[in-house]
Amino acid sequence: MEFLSSAPKLELNAHSGKVDVFCADIFTPRPPLEEMLAFSSWSASAQAQMTAALERANCSVAWACLVVDEVGMLALVAFKHRLQLCDAKPAAERALAALPEQQRRVVEQALRPLDELDYNRISAWRTMQSLRPKRAKPVHVPPQQRAPMSLAAYMEQMSSSEEEDEGEPPLAIQDCAGTTLAARPAPTPWGLWAELAQQTAVVQVASAGKRPDVLTYIRCHREARRVQLIVEKLQAEYDRASFPQVVEVAKGLAEAGSIPGIDGPRSRKSEFLARCREALKIFDPQSEQRSAKDKKADEAKGKAALEARKPDWPEDGCLVCGEQKPAWITTSLSKEPELTLSRCSKCKAPYSFGRTVHGLGDLWPSAKRQRLV
Ligand SMILES: [Zn+2]
Repeated sequence: MEFLSSAPKLELNAHSGKVDVFCADIFTPRPPLEEMLAFSSWSASAQAQMTAALERANCSVAWACLVVDEVGMLALVAFKHRLQLCDAKPAAERALAALPEQQRRVVEQALRPLDELDYNRISAWRTMQSLRPKRAKPVHVPPQQRAPMSLAAYMEQMSSSEEEDEGEPPLAIQDCAGTTLAARPAPTPWGLWAELAQQTAVVQVASAGKRPDVLTYIRCHREARRVQLIVEKLQAEYDRASFPQVVEVAKGLAEAGSIPGIDGPRSRKSEFLARCREALKIFDPQSEQRSAKDKKADEAKGKAALEARKPDWPEDGCLVCGEQKPAWITTSLSKEPELTLSRCSKCKAPYSFGRTVHGLGDLWPSAKRQRLV
């Protein structure tokens, strides 16, 4: 068991169908470091078993790894060639046979191709190095012991490196257990490092085989994963969100290719909106308590947001004076229905000029009819 020394590189798998990296959530949440350390001897024997499994002549697994990140324990299995999930399962189960019965069953039931949600999760991984405070003095580690650093060695250093910081003594990980940063005034950089590491640094519990240089992932293709992708994006951008805002976020994900949009031959608006509804329910359970009237109004606004197309003209530029990015000054003309007018800050021409308005006739259709213009 050791801290992960470097996070893997990830790349979108352009092929559809077969994939070469699979994973399974073994458990959540992340256990306290002390609990993990109590399983050190188990992790050593698991690693030995995994290594033996991968060394078998007919084993199709190139690399298998158990890590604990901020979310919990994740099993990662990379194969020597691309294959279907049904073929990957038995091989992954054999490679991870060291896991206790209950967790082996998790692998059996929940193994999935590494997808975009996993990509987001792994991209957020913190290593000891990435958490290291910039101003702290380096720990003197002989080069031959430098990487990867075992948990035991790290703790030993944290508790014995008294010369590192004047003032407060550095903290061993055991000293930080059960306390929060706020509870301790002015923690030392080393103390912070220890605390952040024990809470967030990725711990490699066991690993066998050689990690591929790049792990490939696919777009989320299970409905629940797509919904979760929207939820996580909402969590990153909003404290609370309205239904139309959920639709906007989902549209952004669709434009980036992360989830199906409404343009494809097999895509349906009803499906898209149902996914947004589900995401809002998870993101903000209280939104379910809106009145039927509010829900209906939101639904209509969401649908309008979905159907609103991006104009195919340059979005920011003024088409009258040619200014590339003028400040558009928007004034409200009326509340019901909501009507606003945006004018170019340079030439004062309305935004619509040259876009939806090509002459006075577009502004006053009756004038055109009467041949006044
Ligand atoms: Zn202008």
